[in-house]
Amino acid sequence: MLSEKVLKNLRGSSAIRAMFEEGENLKKIHGADKVFDFSLGNPDPPPPEAVLKSLRDLARENPPGLHAYMNNAGYKDVREKIAGHINNKDGTALAADNIVMTCGAGGGLNVVLKAILNPGEEVIVLSPFFVEYGFYIENYGGTMVVVPTEKGTFQPDLQAIEKSITPKTKGIIFNSPNNPTGVVYSEMILTSLAYLIEDKEKEFHSHIFVIADEPYRDIVYDEIKMPQILNIFKKSVSVYSYSKSLSLPGERIGYIAVSDKIENIDVFMEALVFANRVLGFVNAPSLFQKVIAESLGATVNVNIYQERRDLLYYHLTDLGFSCVKPQGAFYLFPESPLENTAEFKKLALKHKIIIVPGNGFGSPEYFRLAYCVSTKTIENSLPAFTALAKEAGLNK
Ligand code: PLP
Repeated sequence: MLSEKVLKNLRGSSAIRAMFEEGENLKKIHGADKVFDFSLGNPDPPPPEAVLKSLRDLARENPPGLHAYMNNAGYKDVREKIAGHINNKDGTALAADNIVMTCGAGGGLNVVLKAILNPGEEVIVLSPFFVEYGFYIENYGGTMVVVPTEKGTFQPDLQAIEKSITPKTKGIIFNSPNNPTGVVYSEMILTSLAYLIEDKEKEFHSHIFVIADEPYRDIVYDEIKMPQILNIFKKSVSVYSYSKSLSLPGERIGYIAVSDKIENIDVFMEALVFANRVLGFVNAPSLFQKVIAESLGATVNVNIYQERRDLLYYHLTDLGFSCVKPQGAFYLFPESPLENTAEFKKLALKHKIIIVPGNGFGSPEYFRLAYCVSTKTIENSLPAFTALAKEAGLNK
């Protein structure tokens, strides 16, 4: 009765949701404060005051057309402000017409993939990767080619990428700061990747688009400077979202910023805007376009996330867990101390800790902890991690 493809996907697609449901059941039995749920990337800090104020002001003033359709790319004045904001920060030369407003990064990625992919073309993703990429690529008949990052650092492995590029490669998606590892890809490695891609394009007479999925771009720690992808790669787009930086995941607002060095950029932009329309998004939510235009530069309190990272990271590594120190986003991705991560997940559940096994991210020997939960939850969870480590045979 239903699509066979969808039914097949349904069976294997909901590891994170399944863990979340498991956590909800445990909370009913033991009480919410006794369960340590690190399953979902749903930010817990409230949106910044600038966002709430502009929301209140707009609702009160209700200017004409606030809730109307507009150009499928989004309001021109909003796109102009966003372009200016990126230019000021990163020295790019973007104009309003280099920006398409989208329904979050999920919407933006689908728009880009629809615009560029022909059936049978390949898109490289670097593992560990965000679970939805495979489904997004499949939406347009593309094939996902998974290339593991370097063991020990989770940085892109250039040799492995080089071997995986074929005449059918149409794009490469990467996500930095990364979900699930928290790693920021280094500017030096990305610059080498740009040369590699240009060489391969010449060799195969092909076009390879770099799609940077960057919802965590503004959540970085230790004064790390995020490389600007649009300055590094000629055929590149940065897909941004306010879901994480402004704690607005339910509002579905983000944008695609397109490198001004793409050839025939007018047609490229038309293709994006067309895709936004016919995928049924039509345009990004009008009210929130206006809200974010008034809140540029605001972010949630990133220091809170950094404190939580430190609390959990140092506790886990003291206990003997092996884990790369995250430089951004709000996830830890430690190695499972048991060979079978599913067994470790069960053991964690016994201690009322909800983790997500790494297989959904393409890295089965690891597990993910989303620390976008309250600091109190993290503090309360520390003894449970100590007991879990002991039972899992970590002896420190
Ligand atoms: N990409 C990554 C790496 C994510 O972690 C998420 C959400 O968790 C998304 C994209 C989708 O974000 P949005 O809410 O903007 O669609």
